[in-house]
Amino acid sequence: MKAILVTMTPEHLNIEALKQAGQILKDGGLVAFPTETVYGLGGNALDPKASMKIYAAKGRPSDNPLIVHIADLDSLPAIVKNIPSKASALAEKYWPGPLTMIFQKTDLVPLETTGGLDSVAVRFPSDPIAQSLIRFAGGYVAAPSANTSGRPSPTMAEHVEEDLGDAVDMIIDGGPVGIGLESTIVDFTEEIPVVLRPGYISLEMLRETLGEVRMDRGLLITDSKVHPKAPGMKYRHYAPKADLSIVEGREEEVIARINQMAEKAREEGKTVGIIAAEETAERYPVGIVKTIGKRSEEETIARHLYEVLREFDKCQVNEIYSEAFYTPRMGQAIMNRLLKAAGHKIIKTQEEQK
Ligand code: AMP
Ligand code: MG
Repeated sequence: MKAILVTMTPEHLNIEALKQAGQILKDGGLVAFPTETVYGLGGNALDPKASMKIYAAKGRPSDNPLIVHIADLDSLPAIVKNIPSKASALAEKYWPGPLTMIFQKTDLVPLETTGGLDSVAVRFPSDPIAQSLIRFAGGYVAAPSANTSGRPSPTMAEHVEEDLGDAVDMIIDGGPVGIGLESTIVDFTEEIPVVLRPGYISLEMLRETLGEVRMDRGLLITDSKVHPKAPGMKYRHYAPKADLSIVEGREEEVIARINQMAEKAREEGKTVGIIAAEETAERYPVGIVKTIGKRSEEETIARHLYEVLREFDKCQVNEIYSEAFYTPRMGQAIMNRLLKAAGHKIIKTQEEQK
């Protein structure tokens, strides 16, 4: 592994290491760092060469723009042309935090950073490690999730090492992240704000501040002709090695159906993986059962989703069945990621009974 590894916590920052990391970014290098959502792969957002390095390190398609991270509201006007008052109201409420907003960009932001678009995505993270790094780096850090393209986003430094240990100059280990799913993305380049990616901040929370908000049609329709507006959302985010299906319906029927399929697979000599909530995990006698979190505490499900998917790649399972997690607030974000991982393979128990 080539990367320098440093460890700290959000409560006890290692300022010397953060200064060194900031200098690496100023010199055009790459540093992976924790944020409250997932780990980011940082490069200087205003340096086209650094952005190109990020794409190369991740194996990311170059039409998939990067999010620019700032650590001060005053940094915003230099990189965006027009800040609608609704966006300011949203920033007031949710920045710093798991919210990304898209605006028209100024010439300061290179097209390499925005995947050739004339708009730019901006986020102000709340994690103190991320904030300090961004300040030492000069104020603008482009940072996609620090995974190899096509793998689940990293929620702990070990995941970054697995994927990018040889490709980055430094990894800052700040412990496991708090949220575990990428930020909510809201596009302000249109008359009515549009959600391009669901996240911790739900549509209902956005409506409270913004009034009318649309969901990008490309997110709602799984038709290959309707492309999502966020270029990254059109890619199959992650395909586990084993075949993943989501089983949907009333709890008892889901459990019965998964057990029936697991038993059948066992008879055929296959190994089955099951993703279950803590409340139901003990109801599956056959297969490797991984508990994702508690339905009664939906944040725990969001936090463990990517970790569980990574763990299953290390077990030799042939098929994975997952319960569905349409939880009240984050369900839309959780299911957006899970459905993509499953290639939209859903088994509906209710429909079959009609
Ligand atoms: P990641 O960096 O892995 O969190 O992914 C960033 C997401 O933001 C991708 O889905 C991008 O396509 C999307 N994105 C970034 N900038 C823009 C932009 N200017 N317009 C639309 N989507 C964007
Ligand atoms: Mg990503």
